[in-house]
Amino acid sequence: YAKDKGRNNYQFYQTSLSTRTPELLSLEKSLRHALDRKEFLLYYQPKVNILTGEITGMEALLRWHHPEMGIVAPNIFIPLAEASGLIVPIGEWVLREACKQNKTWQDAGFSLMTVAVNLSPKQFHQPQLVETVAEILKTTGLAPEYLEIEITETTAIENLDFTTNILKQFEQMGLPLAIDDFGTGYSSLSRLQTLPFHNLKIDRSFIKELTADDKVAHIITAIVNLGRSLGLRLIAEGVEKSEELDFLKLIQCDDVQGYLFYKPLSSQQATEIIRERIKKSNSQDL
Ligand code: C2E
Ligand code: MG
Ligand code: MG
Ligand code: MG
Repeated sequence: YAKDKGRNNYQFYQTSLSTRTPELLSLEKSLRHALDRKEFLLYYQPKVNILTGEITGMEALLRWHHPEMGIVAPNIFIPLAEASGLIVPIGEWVLREACKQNKTWQDAGFSLMTVAVNLSPKQFHQPQLVETVAEILKTTGLAPEYLEIEITETTAIENLDFTTNILKQFEQMGLPLAIDDFGTGYSSLSRLQTLPFHNLKIDRSFIKELTADDKVAHIITAIVNLGRSLGLRLIAEGVEKSEELDFLKLIQCDDVQGYLFYKPLSSQQATEIIRERIKKSNSQDL
């Protein structure tokens, strides 16, 4: 199940970075101007309650609209941003934009919906992080319970004392906290149980293998059961097939995120979808 581990983590890109192809160098150069030139945008992928079908939150996913290349995916440029330190200002932009967007949604009546932001390792270790998040919440006026923070299992276990310290501050501020890509970091849930996480996202690589490999079904079941006994809400990433959904319902996973429901959406598309859902639920109430 860990066989496509390399795809979503930074190892592959670190190797590419050290070879420094001209393409990568030129990409890094244009990345330096991308913020000033307002080339970043956020997509939003809904997270759906497996039982009620309700949208419980949106994950903000960063895109770069490169002037020549078009839309560039984050797994291409985030490792570059991480290596060059540009991730700090870019990540701050993401936090601010996601909070602004959710504040707009909340004000329009789309309440009780979190927007989740991914924090990269360097961003998580940035000394001003907690202050920055507090300032952004204050400036945008978003209530802290509507900004969710996702860090990967790998980031979380790198330095448990450090992670505990930061996450406890976030918890005190009232932010929901999620472990992302769980299962790829070779840690155990027992090591993570001291951290104040609320949500656990089971990595897409497991869901992908679910229908092909019986053992994977057992692993997912074990993660869900153990996670639940630790009081975590369980979210399955990358659900594409109805067979996967059926299995996840059977083992009582809480939420699902994946192409079976929604691909990442532009903010306009996301707004339309929430609006339609609200209309529908209002008419059902009558
Ligand atoms: P992630 O946080 O695990 O996000 C989930 C990724 O899985 C997203 O890819 C999403 O589009 C994709 N996905 C969701 N459902 C499905 C599905 O059913 N099938 C398939 N094949 N894919 C699905 P995306 O948007 O390309 O982002 C990739 C990674 O880049 C993210 O993984 C996250 O680690 C990172 N990332 C994205 N936005 C940001 C950001 O603002 N800051 C940081 N630091 N990292 C980000
Ligand atoms: Mg994520
Ligand atoms: Mg993930
Ligand atoms: Mg991932």
